[in-house]
Amino acid sequence: MLVRAKKSLGQNFLIDENILKEIVNLGNIDSKSQVIEIGPGTGNLTKEIVKKNPKDLILIEKDRFLIDKLNSQFSDKAKIINSDFLELKNHLNFNNTIIFGNLPYNVSTQILTKLINLNKTNNNFLKLILMFQKEVADRIIAKPNTNNYGRLSIISQWKLDIEKLKDINENCFRPKPKVKSTILIFKPKNNFFKIKNSKNLEHVTNIFFSLRRKMIKKPLSILFGNYDLVSKKLNLNINDRPQKLSPLKFYEICREYERSIN
Ligand code: SAM
Repeated sequence: MLVRAKKSLGQNFLIDENILKEIVNLGNIDSKSQVIEIGPGTGNLTKEIVKKNPKDLILIEKDRFLIDKLNSQFSDKAKIINSDFLELKNHLNFNNTIIFGNLPYNVSTQILTKLINLNKTNNNFLKLILMFQKEVADRIIAKPNTNNYGRLSIISQWKLDIEKLKDINENCFRPKPKVKSTILIFKPKNNFFKIKNSKNLEHVTNIFFSLRRKMIKKPLSILFGNYDLVSKKLNLNINDRPQKLSPLKFYEICREYERSIN
């Protein structure tokens, strides 16, 4: 069956056999593994996953026109869910699961944010092996004092250790995308800074980085009536720009913010 790729669903299918194998090998899948694939598409990556014989495999694909094709290939080996991953309710069990996704570029950061928020001590995935548009991956792994550093870096690096595998050339996909891609591997940190609600971290970083050219005195004064006390307590230089602050400083600011609103 010939598949016409839908741009609106970010359908650029990975066709390079070596890279497909390399991605799946990163999972170290064995017969006890639980695996989820987000956006299996025409099943190119799925075929390689299935060869490793995982105990459970769940495929979540939004495009209902691809579901027949997936069913014809994998119905005896996988549970195939026709759903938008972003609309899926929280009852999906991620515990100890290896999650793969050659993500649709238009919603890749939303999917990552959802995975971060779903990751709890009692529902803790083993690792994420995800492909992003290179520019987005650069922002996810960026360090302070670089142009790419911002909200996405701070939120992604909060609960997860992130490693870059490599950049992938446009020619490895059909249809060929306009941009390069990057594979990232995420593993949950054993210890991470305790924040009550991740929405507060999203709010705090939003205030700082919507004023990214301003000195941090301005966002601090928006968040706190007593911003000079907070900046003293956290040892902040109010003349710095947001990009200079480490992720840890943002987590500390978030904790102060949570204290101030309770
Ligand atoms: N895994 C396949 C591969 O590597 O060739 C396809 C990758 S393609 C970049 C992204 C896939 O995600 C498409 O099949 C698309 O239909 C699906 N998709 C797009 N938005 C989605 C969503 N919100 N939830 C689940 N799947 C989605």
